[in-house]
Amino acid sequence: MKMKQCPLCKKMVPELLYDMHVATDQLVIERMKKDFPGWSEKDGVCEPCLQRYRAKAA
Ligand SMILES: [Zn+2]
Repeated sequence: MKMKQCPLCKKMVPELLYDMHVATDQLVIERMKKDFPGWSEKDGVCEPCLQRYRAKAA
């Protein structure tokens, strides 16, 4: 299986998520950009990162 590297945690994951454009994840995206300048939602994140930031944003 072709692995991809998460731009945030640098872990190799089978799949990156790009479906964060929904309004509910706007805060999540903003926090990720704050922590990782240069990152864009088009770069994707791994599932654990998304969950972690969703928990932080909640
Ligand atoms: Zn990650």
